[in-house]
Amino acid sequence: MSRGKKVLAGLIIAIVVFAVAVIVSERQNSDTQKKEHPLFVGHGKMQEVKYLNGNGAFYNDDYIFFGYGFGEGMGKKFYRVSRKDVKDQQKLTIICRDASCSHESESCEANTGWGEYFVFRNKMYQNINDEKYNGDGTYEYLGRIEDYDTGEVVFQNNIPDDMPPEQAVDDDAQNMYIRILSDDYIKVQSHRHAYILDSEFNIRYTHFNIGKFPWGAIFGNNYYYVNDIRQLIKVDLNSGKEEALPLDCKVFLADNDEQYIYYSDELNNMYKLNISDGSKEKIAENVGMYVVLDSYIYSVNNEERVIYDKEGAKIGEFTAYENMIECAYQIGDKIYCPFTNGVAFMDADGKNYGEMKIQ
Ligand SMILES: [Zn+2]
Repeated sequence: MSRGKKVLAGLIIAIVVFAVAVIVSERQNSDTQKKEHPLFVGHGKMQEVKYLNGNGAFYNDDYIFFGYGFGEGMGKKFYRVSRKDVKDQQKLTIICRDASCSHESESCEANTGWGEYFVFRNKMYQNINDEKYNGDGTYEYLGRIEDYDTGEVVFQNNIPDDMPPEQAVDDDAQNMYIRILSDDYIKVQSHRHAYILDSEFNIRYTHFNIGKFPWGAIFGNNYYYVNDIRQLIKVDLNSGKEEALPLDCKVFLADNDEQYIYYSDELNNMYKLNISDGSKEKIAENVGMYVVLDSYIYSVNNEERVIYDKEGAKIGEFTAYENMIECAYQIGDKIYCPFTNGVAFMDADGKNYGEMKIQ
């Protein structure tokens, strides 16, 4: 090769290397941009909170994002607060970036419509329910889940093919409830059917006998739920084998922690079931609607709102806190409850109640 050709070859190699470097760096830039969520700012991984019924929330190192449903047919609004600024009278910020917006219309970007945002395995997703007019005065909702970074549809809800016709007739494909059961499983529930999806959003299990509440739990590779005739059902997700657990009562409500399922009967007695050895014991009476959080159980009935420890001993109450209607979820050592245009909070043991408001 002549010297001139060597120089030329060297130049071409240099140009190719430079071009590849530019392409790689641009791809990295666009990846970074995709992961910067303009509505969900802040640093660190997004984390989902555990919640039972009501409204969800998620948080990163800097902010907590609260979702709140504000009226039938009006979807959910999302707002945020700095994690350092959880204090009484603190202002909540609507995540809408339009200063002229009143945040009351469907076009407000904080309004998710008939759906919500949620986090699964530290990734953000959007639950979307498209409205379809049936032509006879009725609407139905078609549920799907989108990857929030890419917009890719990762799950499309459909009425199951093998559903008995008498049940399918009043079913629909709406994503009514989405619950993160573990890092490996997610539950999507419609009116009459529920899907258990794995981390790739593949259907691992389907059931039609759904109960009153969307609660479900995963212990090992077993899925637990309460069915329509108030039995506690255990499903082996590997074999698909299902069985009703032998309890002495019908189950009204259930929630769980890492080791136990806490269930109540129709007389408002609460029991705890040890998953590892199947033993069960009655631990409290006169409970209402309750949630099981990190250290304590929070119960609301007509007369009082009580904090129990996990042995069923009363350790505090929150009856006087006007907007702590239910203890929706726990982040760190604080319990939160969203209400219209605000979020109530208190310490896990019921002390230091306060309210943050949208202003
Ligand atoms: Zn707005």
